[in-house]
Amino acid sequence: MQNFDLVILGGGPGGYPLAARMARKGWQVAIVDHASEFGGTCLNWGCIPTKALLASARSYHLLKNAADFGLSCSETSFDWPKILERKSKITLQLRQGIVKMLEKSGVTIFNGHGQLGKDRVIKVSRSDNTETIEIQAKKVCLAVGSIPAAPAVFPADRNIFWTSNEALNADKVPESLLVVGGGVIGIELGQVFAEFGSKVCVVEMMPQILPGLDNATAKRLLPVFKKAGLEVLVGKKVEALAATNGRATATIDGSTREFDKVLIAVGRRVNMSFLQNSDLEIETEKGFIKIDDHYMTSQSDVYAIGDAVKGPMLAHKASYDAMILAAQWQGKKLTADYSLVPSCVYTHPEIAWVGLNEEQLKERQIEYKTGRSMFSANGKALTAGEGDGQIKTLLSTDGKLLGAVIWGPEASNIINEATMMSQFGISNHDFSMMIHPHPTLSEAFMESVENASGEGVHG
Ligand code: NAD
Repeated sequence: MQNFDLVILGGGPGGYPLAARMARKGWQVAIVDHASEFGGTCLNWGCIPTKALLASARSYHLLKNAADFGLSCSETSFDWPKILERKSKITLQLRQGIVKMLEKSGVTIFNGHGQLGKDRVIKVSRSDNTETIEIQAKKVCLAVGSIPAAPAVFPADRNIFWTSNEALNADKVPESLLVVGGGVIGIELGQVFAEFGSKVCVVEMMPQILPGLDNATAKRLLPVFKKAGLEVLVGKKVEALAATNGRATATIDGSTREFDKVLIAVGRRVNMSFLQNSDLEIETEKGFIKIDDHYMTSQSDVYAIGDAVKGPMLAHKASYDAMILAAQWQGKKLTADYSLVPSCVYTHPEIAWVGLNEEQLKERQIEYKTGRSMFSANGKALTAGEGDGQIKTLLSTDGKLLGAVIWGPEASNIINEATMMSQFGISNHDFSMMIHPHPTLSEAFMESVENASGEGVHG
């Protein structure tokens, strides 16, 4: 049996950076995943394919609205299989890059499914079912990620009732699509299909879309998404789904409607398949693998990171876990702090937020000042035809950033200014000493910070 210092189950944005970091420190490291899954959900079934489809959707939108830029484009159409092909090429390129990087770092790769047993013995069933081998490790890290939650009350026929996995590989754009759940997946994929002509209806049972986003922004975005072609119903529940003659019948708040396809986007759950047929027990807590401050599970020297453990289910949080765990193993006294994990929604307009929102500040009785700036007053945004949107910054009475929410162009990039300002405790006065190039979208962030203390030039 081959022995390693560390075996990682899962080659996603948690597992592969941890493997590379520790191998480069001289550890004997192995990583187990299916060849087609390196990069994890993010690269193969999540962030990257969705962003590729959103980029095609945005380009199509611009083509249809070329006249806004003084251009003419008399005929517009799209080729869905080519759009999917472009998406697959991007994911393949990135996947191959990760595998090369791991090999260069000296990581041993096992392609297949890993099952964890006692004494940190891992049975790897090769993807082609040719053989099962056993390896053992001094330490194991479960970077096993998550899978779509598809509650048993909904039909299992994946031809009609899609999870995000089926939606990302749909053979054609459906005429009508019901999206169950107004979270990130529902809104992002809903926008893709709406842009390509589907009649999309998003049903969210909570009073607002996008859990975690502040109430006011979520409400403000409803007409924005309506304009983008999405019918969004909030505070309404999809109570039942059934297949009728190859289509879907949905009961929404007591009424019945028909759709060609349904996308079930009601959250994700931890992928526990590494314990299938295993006699090992790993404690869980609220559906996540229970860990201590050093990412150790209930089994000694078995660790877990990423979507499998507490904290937001986000690729960058998984990579952060990997970084903290690697630092801890190198003797650094660090523990994870998830208070500044940025959230981003890559729709058009983009939405991003970090830190505390207004509701949370009020609930915690923290005094704050609000700063706002509008993209309609930002030169770079207007030249790009992106004048819709705003930045809201929330500052403490001594000028430190407590939280920020942005909707508008490049929100997912601008939010880094907010995270940096908050993480390093930069005061509003020091921040406004930082020269922002003109014209840029990030000037709007500076303006919002200045406005919070009444020092903004434009209002
Ligand atoms: P989510 O938890 O973000 O949203 C699911 C939504 O479904 C919730 O708002 C919930 O109230 C609603 N819901 C549940 N049951 C319902 C019902 N019967 N009828 C109507 N509404 C119902 O989950 P998601 O959108 O599936 O995303 C899963 C995870 O993946 C999240 O943690 C998300 O952050 C992550 N993700 C992130 C990104 C990104 O960073 N851009 C993109 C995709 C996914």
